[in-house]
Amino acid sequence: MDSARDTLAQALRGIIDPGTGKDILSTGRVSGLTLSDNGTASAILLVDGLKREEAEGLEREIRAGLLKVPGVRHARIIQTSERQGPAGGAIQGVRHVVAIASGKGGVGKSTVAANLALALFRRGLSIGLLDADIHGPSAHIILGIGTRAQATAEKKLIPVKAHGLKVLGMGLMSDPDRAVAWRGPMISGAMVQMAESGLWAPLDILVVDMPPGTGDIQISLAQKLAPSGVVMVTTPQQLAVADARRAAALFRQLQVPLLGTVANMASMPGPGGLVLHPFGKVDREGLEAELGAPLLAELPLDPDVTRASDAGTPLATGPVAQTLDDVASRIARSLGLG
Ligand code: ADP
Repeated sequence: MDSARDTLAQALRGIIDPGTGKDILSTGRVSGLTLSDNGTASAILLVDGLKREEAEGLEREIRAGLLKVPGVRHARIIQTSERQGPAGGAIQGVRHVVAIASGKGGVGKSTVAANLALALFRRGLSIGLLDADIHGPSAHIILGIGTRAQATAEKKLIPVKAHGLKVLGMGLMSDPDRAVAWRGPMISGAMVQMAESGLWAPLDILVVDMPPGTGDIQISLAQKLAPSGVVMVTTPQQLAVADARRAAALFRQLQVPLLGTVANMASMPGPGGLVLHPFGKVDREGLEAELGAPLLAELPLDPDVTRASDAGTPLATGPVAQTLDDVASRIARSLGLG
């Protein structure tokens, strides 16, 4: 695996990054080099700061370089961007929306959304959390919120303050169970309305815990809320990664930049100091190529996190919080907030 990567890297040596005038590998312009069994070489090309013609020219050069390597029959180049979206986007007073998405349920998306929002808040940013996972709202449980959101006379929703975050979601509405019977357009309409009528301002980032999957709701939320970027959450299990890949493709199609992937429940301590991988070991290069986005972090399966989520007392320390602090710093930087 590694030797294949070295061979591919060797073939790209000398290609110059028009953005910096330096070698494309040393500047991080190209990452995620992999060679699959069927002879497909993949590479991730970061297009930030490049003009369209420059990106296309670079893609052609990379493709030509990869196809010269013995054994490479196809070259797949995935263009990606960490670029910040337009500041002051769809929601008044909110500088950036960052969506947290997954291909399937149960992979820890809501856990990552809430704890990443807290990690961003620990950096001194003003952060909101919209729980848009309408059929499985859990932000209010994870954050231990016992009250409901109030509305003003003008029907504006006042987010509930919890652990420094401004929070709205179906779990904070007066009749949360009503949403269970809602169908597609009603759900997306309600979530967009909740986002838009929330008194969030001023906010650096609104973190949106998206519903899992690739349906109409995700499409309309992505279009209406215009996220600056999306973070994909998956377990390392192939089944989950395949669904995450479809979701990532959807966001790419909707032109929402993929900020990266968090591989959750990637390891756990076993007997005698062993490290176990209950959902399989993370294949960094493979995952990056498959989702077309950098792997931001591997989070362990930590029973303290499960307990803290149930108790509504999120942890600011421990391996999961620490790793998410790093992810938060990377995201803040890529949005120009760090
Ligand atoms: P999703 O939003 O993808 O459906 P959740 O965030 O609700 O997933 O997580 C599913 C379950 O796994 C929850 O019980 C949650 O507490 C637990 N969980 C998620 N991530 C971790 C982790 N890294 N360590 C321990 N438990 C976790």
